[in-house]
Amino acid sequence: MAFWGNKQEGENPQEPGQAPAGSLEDGYNEIVKAKGRTPGIDLAIRLSDLILEHAVRERASDVHIESQGANLRVRFRVDGILQDMLSSPKNADIPLTQRIRVLAGFDPEPPTSFRNEEGRFQKMLAGRPIQVRVSSFPTVNGEKLVLRVLDRQQLGLDLDQVGMDQDALTIIKKLIRNPYGIFLITGSTGGGKTTSLDARLKNINTPMINIITLEDPVEYRLEGINQAQINAKTGFTWSEGLRTILRQDPDVIMVGEIRDYDTAEISLRAALTGHLLFTTIHTINAPSIIERLFEMGVPPFLIGSSMLGAMSQRLVRKVCPKCAQPAAAPSEPVVNEFIKNMDPEEGRLVKDLILSPGANYKVEKGCTECRNTGYLGRTGIFELMLMNEDIRKHILDHAPTDVIKRAAIKGGKMRTLLMDGIMKARAGTTTLSEIIRVTATMV
Ligand SMILES: [Zn+2]
Repeated sequence: MAFWGNKQEGENPQEPGQAPAGSLEDGYNEIVKAKGRTPGIDLAIRLSDLILEHAVRERASDVHIESQGANLRVRFRVDGILQDMLSSPKNADIPLTQRIRVLAGFDPEPPTSFRNEEGRFQKMLAGRPIQVRVSSFPTVNGEKLVLRVLDRQQLGLDLDQVGMDQDALTIIKKLIRNPYGIFLITGSTGGGKTTSLDARLKNINTPMINIITLEDPVEYRLEGINQAQINAKTGFTWSEGLRTILRQDPDVIMVGEIRDYDTAEISLRAALTGHLLFTTIHTINAPSIIERLFEMGVPPFLIGSSMLGAMSQRLVRKVCPKCAQPAAAPSEPVVNEFIKNMDPEEGRLVKDLILSPGANYKVEKGCTECRNTGYLGRTGIFELMLMNEDIRKHILDHAPTDVIKRAAIKGGKMRTLLMDGIMKARAGTTTLSEIIRVTATMV
C-alpha cells in the first residue's frame, strides 16, 4: 500500500508487548554513550523507537519533539495534559528529526520555504500495530514535530468501553439501527468525538450495509468502511463530497463535521430520504445544536423531521485508584453557591444529585503510579438528548437553546454533562473538581 510508504518496519528492539525499562532520559543517555561506536543513523532509529515505545507505554496521545536552540525537548500529552519527558543538549550526530521525517514520508531535510507537511506511518509497538500521524512546523528555533499516536486499544474503539452507562448504551444501540434520520454529536476538540463516531460505525458494520464516511482528516482506518478524505484544494469539499456519496447507494453516512448551510441542508435532507447519518457539530452542549442549525439557516421543519437526537460528550480524567482518598460531599452552602446561576429546575436536580446520601466521593492525591497528578486514564461523560414531541414543537416555534434544554431535562429525561459527571464522581471514578473543571465553560 503506497499510503504507508516504507513504513511497516520490524526493527523493534523490544520483545512484543514488553515495555522498555527505565525512564526515557535513562534510555537516551544510554544511546548517547554508544556514539562513535555505532553509526548515527542507527542511533537515531533506536532513539525514535525508544520515544515511541515510551509514548505507548505512558498512554500518550501526542509526542512533541522540539528543538530549542541547543536543546532537544520531548514532551508527551497524557490524559490531555502535556508533560516533560526529556530535555537534553542536542546531539547533531544523532539525526532524530531526519529519521522521523523519513518514517513520515517527508524528505529528510525540512523544506527551505514553508510548506504544510503531514505524513503518517505504522509501526509495531508494544506488540500491536500503532498508527502515527506526523506534522512538522518550522519555529524560529528549529523544526518542531508533533506525532499523534493513534492507539486503538488505548481509545477503546468499542461502544461498551467509552464510559457510557447501560441505559444510554441501550438507547444508542437502538438508535443506530434506525433506517433513517440524523444523529449529531458535539464536544470540544479532542473530546473523543471521532472515537465515539468510529465506535458507532464499528457497531453497525456488516457486509449487508454500505457505510461511507467523509472525514478531515481520516484518523482511524476502519475495515469494511468506505472512508474519504476531504480536500478543499481539489474541490472535494464537504458539500461536494456529500453529493457524491448520495450517488454511491449508501445506507449509513458519517459526515465528519457540519460547518456550513450547504452541508447541513444536504445532510438533513438525506436523513429524510432513507439514509442514516452521523455527524459532529461544534457547540457547547446537545440542546444548542438546534440553535446552531438555525443560525446556519436550516429551516425548523427540516430539523424537526430529520433529527433523531443529539449527544454531547467530554473526556474527564479518572482519579488514580492507587492513591485516591475518600472525600465528604460538599456542604449545602457551597452547593447553593455553585448552582445559583443555573436554571432553577436544573439547579434543583444538580443539588439533589450532589447531596443525596450514598455517594462514594474521592479526592486526588498523587503517587508514583500517576506521576503525582492524582489521575490515571480518562473516561467520557455524556449528555444524550432524544427527540420527542415536546422538543419538536419548540423547534417548530424557533425556540432558543434554554427553552429546548429545559424541555429536554423536564421529568429527568435528559441528564446533562454536569449531571452525568456528578454521577461518575459519586461512583468514585473521578472527582467533583475534575467535573467542574471540564464543564465550567457550560454552566
Ligand atoms: Zn496515584
